[in-house]
Amino acid sequence: MKKLVVVAILISFTFPLSATFADRSENKIVELIDGVDENTLYYYDKTIQDFGPHPTGSEECNEVAEFIFNEFSNYGLKTEYQEWEYRGLRGKNIVATLYGKDNYTIIFSAHYDSVAVSPGADDDGSGISCLLMAAKIMASYSFQHTIKFVAFSGEEQGKYGSECFARNAYENGEIIVADLQLDGVGHAESKEGGSKIRLSSNEASTWISDMAEEIAEKYEDKIGLDIVRHRNFPGSDHQSFIEYGYEANFFLEYEFNPHYHSPQDTIENVNFSYLAKVCKLAIATLASIADKDIDIMVRFVEPERGAIYFGGRKIMKISSHHTIVFGRIHAEANIIGKEEVRRVEFYFDGELRGVVEEEPYSFMYGKPAFFKHSIKIVAVGEEEADMNEIDVMVFNIIPKYWLK
Ligand SMILES: [Zn+2]
Repeated sequence: MKKLVVVAILISFTFPLSATFADRSENKIVELIDGVDENTLYYYDKTIQDFGPHPTGSEECNEVAEFIFNEFSNYGLKTEYQEWEYRGLRGKNIVATLYGKDNYTIIFSAHYDSVAVSPGADDDGSGISCLLMAAKIMASYSFQHTIKFVAFSGEEQGKYGSECFARNAYENGEIIVADLQLDGVGHAESKEGGSKIRLSSNEASTWISDMAEEIAEKYEDKIGLDIVRHRNFPGSDHQSFIEYGYEANFFLEYEFNPHYHSPQDTIENVNFSYLAKVCKLAIATLASIADKDIDIMVRFVEPERGAIYFGGRKIMKISSHHTIVFGRIHAEANIIGKEEVRRVEFYFDGELRGVVEEEPYSFMYGKPAFFKHSIKIVAVGEEEADMNEIDVMVFNIIPKYWLK
């Protein structure tokens, strides 16, 4: 009798497991893509634009925030406001969390503030609509890593909300694998415009565009977008993540929107079938990253962002992402991930200066330098490698006895 029960249990478990992991994850991606619905995107974007122009600090901005907050909560996600104050402006971000099996976090983001004259249906009601759509669909699935859906304000003043978010995450030691930012993704007039999307990223983040490109090819029939790749455009919230050493990718419509920052940025000028394509691509990319193994990932332990160093020691923190070094530059890396580390390479202004094979992955650079320099660390594992880069203001052409 007992044996029979065991056999029955084994059979019932074996059958679903006989589908390979790849099959199941593929089915999941297809389901997520199929979940994107143009009418729902229209509803979100119309609701947002109908509040009227909603610049940060306005009553209308708070109303849009409340709408987004309530939608996230209704999908069963833990939803919070993150209040921020920066350069005399106050605002709040809305953060909805879909917990994964680990603490690695993927950010999916857009900004919900508009400029003062515009209802902002494309900039960035389009991105926020994708964010809500993604949250609604993905909330009933589980992923390896944690996903945070984040709606920023203060973008139009200079990415204030995302600056505060990224800084806070950095100071709390959050491991953010990637940020996918959607800003202006609903405008397309021509056939060409309707079939292309721009992706921009810095060197360290090109793997995100690679993944999006693979997905666009693999699910071409379902998505219908070609990817046009660019070097990093710093003009949206993903830049705040890059400044704190995280990896990020910016999705942007292919055709320039002539109604940008004007009263005509309304849903009449948003192409919802195009928006749905972008949303499908973004969700499939997000889901793939959220289930991707973290093989190797390099983070700077030193120098920290937002700090001043003197003679190799941190002497104070500053309220920006900049790093200032007086004297020698000490660089140290922390390596995360499954792969065994073979070596860690330290580059100064693009030139390999040191290789370290054992922990601590630490290197001191003492050559005279002045003003802006870049330090790049590359961690090489068995199969993969990862890089991270920091710009440092260096002032070390000073008498040696200062540094003692
Ligand atoms: Zn924008």
